[in-house]
Amino acid sequence: MRVIPLPVANPGPFTGAGNWTYLVPGVRPLLVDAGVGKAGHLDALAAAAPAGPALVVVTHAHPDHVSGAPALADRWPEASFNKIPWTGRDLLEIRWQPVRDGTRFETGEGELEVVHTLGHAPDHVVLWHAASRTVFGADLLQLGNTVAIPASNGGDLSAYLRSLKRVQSLEPARVLPAHGPVIEDPMVLIDRYLVHRRHREVQILTALESKLDTVDAVADRIYTGLTPVLGPLAKESVLAHLVKLEQDGLARREGSRWVLVT
Ligand SMILES: [Zn+2]
Repeated sequence: MRVIPLPVANPGPFTGAGNWTYLVPGVRPLLVDAGVGKAGHLDALAAAAPAGPALVVVTHAHPDHVSGAPALADRWPEASFNKIPWTGRDLLEIRWQPVRDGTRFETGEGELEVVHTLGHAPDHVVLWHAASRTVFGADLLQLGNTVAIPASNGGDLSAYLRSLKRVQSLEPARVLPAHGPVIEDPMVLIDRYLVHRRHREVQILTALESKLDTVDAVADRIYTGLTPVLGPLAKESVLAHLVKLEQDGLARREGSRWVLVT
């Protein structure tokens, strides 16, 4: 399929080299994610689709994916903005068209189907192009890194693992992620992610067994040599695992402390 990758130009500790948005060209061009409103991104979009995108599908409400929506709406007032609602988080100045699992978009390259892949965020979606077995993967997968599960901000590790397995069941041939290079062998990466999470879970169970009983203590044990700016993300990841262990009946909270269920 024809896809035009358009860099958002927002490098940083949480975005790596910066986000990708993707334009599917055609009579009604479709843009995957809104970027952050940088002039260079808007100009590149205008060069690729002079009348602008007819449809913007936002994969989830994290700022690096959505905050450019008002700038796009200013420049191309006819564009429609589509996402799964996240009450309290969706930008109020945009008139969102709600989508759900299974919503289909017609494009010049054929149909794209919304797959609700919650976990990284409750409203997170990927788009599936069955004809080419391509997934627009948003923040589900990223080469050379794992994906953050912000447990105190809508993240849910159990849901994320189910979402990985759902995408695995589609047997995608390639994934176009929001961060990092195109993933040409996504089945291998998904396997690696599932193994990684199992490994982390064992580490966390071991930490609880050795009486480390707070998120901070467990994070200090597991994440050594981490850049300080990423410390809060590491703690969120530990919390996400602890919540999953609680859901699985293997751990429980006692105030701010965590203990194994024996
Ligand atoms: Zn995100």
